[in-house]
Amino acid sequence: MADISYRGRFAPSPTGPLHFGSLVTALASYLEARVHQGQWLVRVEDLDPLRESPEATERILHSLNCHGLIPDAPVRFQSRRHDAYQAVIERLLSDGLAYRCACSRKQLQQHHGRHPEHCREGRSVPGNRPFAIRFALTDETCCWQDELLGPQIQRVIAEVDDPVILRKEGFFAYQLAVVVDDIDQGITDVVRGSDLLDLTSQQQQIYRALGATPPNWLHIPVILNEEGQKLSKQNHAPALDDRQPAGNLTSALAALGQHPPANLNQQPVENILAWATRHWQREAIPLTSR
Ligand code: GLU
Repeated sequence: MADISYRGRFAPSPTGPLHFGSLVTALASYLEARVHQGQWLVRVEDLDPLRESPEATERILHSLNCHGLIPDAPVRFQSRRHDAYQAVIERLLSDGLAYRCACSRKQLQQHHGRHPEHCREGRSVPGNRPFAIRFALTDETCCWQDELLGPQIQRVIAEVDDPVILRKEGFFAYQLAVVVDDIDQGITDVVRGSDLLDLTSQQQQIYRALGATPPNWLHIPVILNEEGQKLSKQNHAPALDDRQPAGNLTSALAALGQHPPANLNQQPVENILAWATRHWQREAIPLTSR
């Protein structure tokens, strides 16, 4: 891939249509890429066919298009990347950085996250019991700088926090795929919701295990509904009305602390995005959820 100093991405999981909270994240990552004269990519994180649907993928891509959020390269689908994830898992297993784990959730709970069957020591799983593959974390107090939220300190506890990277059902897990693809796509800057903040230190360890430099991260406070819950597909956040893209974009700009002029929502989406790029103020993004 061409050498470029800024490459960002928006990486939705197609568990439902785009809602206002995801538009805010998509728009922030798009504007950051534009302001840095970088590239902006879209990656569909369709790893879990039991929770996701091709219709949701279609709707998300259609919504992004209606809002003028057009990526600079063809959309990537994680469902077409299984060979790459499998190869990384094999590499981690042979480097002793991942292990097979047949422990049930209940067993782990009963042992406060420790593995009663000592799976971390690399024993083979007896019989034909289904097993997951976990990444073996290292104990660490991880200090890093979020581009918006400032210094972060996160404690990583080996064994207890070890994330699943291949689920017992045979699906590759987000924690692995996100890192593999961000490395493969040369992503330099990740803008995403702050619900993923706590996973970042584990992801840094996976980057290091794969010999790659982590990107910069900027976490946007999540948008709450009137009951103070995160706007999410699980909370049945309403789908964006694709017939009102101008109003949606100006509301998303306001949620990001920007001050679009009152008549901006009468403009075509291209003009709104051009205004937003010219006037983008990262410092104005509110630091707490609202
Ligand atoms: N696919 C994840 C989600 O929809 C986002 C991944 C990321 O931005 O790192 O929550």
